[in-house]
Amino acid sequence: MVSSMSSTKSYAAQAPYTPLAPFQIDRRDLRPRDVEIEILFCGVCHSDLHMARNEWGATIYPLVPGHEMVGRITKTGSEVTKFQNGDLAGVGCMVDSCRECSNCKRGLEQYCKVGNVQTYSGHDRVNGDITYGGYSTKIVVHEDFVLHISDKLDLAAVAPLLCAGITTYSPLRHWKIGKGHKVAVVGLGGLGHMAVKFAASFGAEVTMLSTSLSKEADARRLGAHKFALTRDPSHLEKLAGYFDFIIDTVSAKHDYNLYLRLLDTDGVLICVGAPPTPAEIAVFSLLGGRRSIAGSGIGGIPETQEMLDYCAEHTITSDIELIDMSYINNAYERMLKSDVRYRFVIDISTLS
Ligand code: NAP
Ligand code: ZN
Ligand code: ZN
Repeated sequence: MVSSMSSTKSYAAQAPYTPLAPFQIDRRDLRPRDVEIEILFCGVCHSDLHMARNEWGATIYPLVPGHEMVGRITKTGSEVTKFQNGDLAGVGCMVDSCRECSNCKRGLEQYCKVGNVQTYSGHDRVNGDITYGGYSTKIVVHEDFVLHISDKLDLAAVAPLLCAGITTYSPLRHWKIGKGHKVAVVGLGGLGHMAVKFAASFGAEVTMLSTSLSKEADARRLGAHKFALTRDPSHLEKLAGYFDFIIDTVSAKHDYNLYLRLLDTDGVLICVGAPPTPAEIAVFSLLGGRRSIAGSGIGGIPETQEMLDYCAEHTITSDIELIDMSYINNAYERMLKSDVRYRFVIDISTLS
């Protein structure tokens, strides 16, 4: 068979503290149920930065980050049924899983008991190759891990839904958060701004807990009903015992006990932010009020499609700053300063 494996432009990190730079990768030949996608836009998640700098200790270099991509189908394998050439398509944080464990069978591929295959820094289940993400001009993925994208919404602003969107939609749905609930969102970044939009859309009363006073007006515009500055103890005192749920999206080390105290009896602190350092929890913050602390990881493929369809129906997208590929290292520095309003999205045409 003549190999059609194609050389593809990308941006990669080669080591934890070197900037991302142009890099050539090979995308595999299409297997029968694979599709090839021309990537048009790719969101920049804080996880890309954690991974590029090996902050979680699991990075395989070279690393091509990017797990919030949208584009168009350019090729389909001989047994593909879900997509045709020209269709819009999206890929999120996973590109495969075992398909057989109890979680995969329930559509919870993110919790695959064998381990899902991450879009980047994972290993292909067939040949063991390293997976490379969306900071590149094209990708080849099994159709089961490709999402349908509506043409009703701004495509660049849809890209962040593939991670920031599903990661906040999934816990809100799991804990059935909506009308009658008081919810706080900690951290107004990529995940945080989607959490505010979804929680408000589901009918909850939403409070933004932020370190940045300059984001108050935006928080309210995005749907928050209240705003509290977490650096000001008097703001937090007033909210003691107030919330049913708190969604914590913070990317760096911080004090979880500060927020646990704000929960009502039986309240749940849901962690989606993933700081590299372990959390220190004072048990007394939990047992006074039977409070819990929980975590949630992205979302399964069926729920990701449900979220995308919900967004198309309710005209929900991300608030983005569109950037050229070459701006990526500046974008990372700004993300570290919490200076992103509220998701950087790479215009992949600037890479080709
Ligand atoms: P982001 O856009 O950088 O937003 C993080 C926000 O956290 C900042 O905007 C800032 O908000 C707040 N923050 C930052 N440093 C802080 C500190 N030291 N103390 C208190 N607040 C601080 O990041 P993101 O892309 O939303 O990702 C957030 C986290 O979620 C990352 O750790 C990422 O890896 C993780 N993540 C997890 C999943 C999952 O499956 N669970 C999926 C995707 C991402 P304010 O300015 O409002 O304070
Ligand atoms: Zn992400
Ligand atoms: Zn599985």
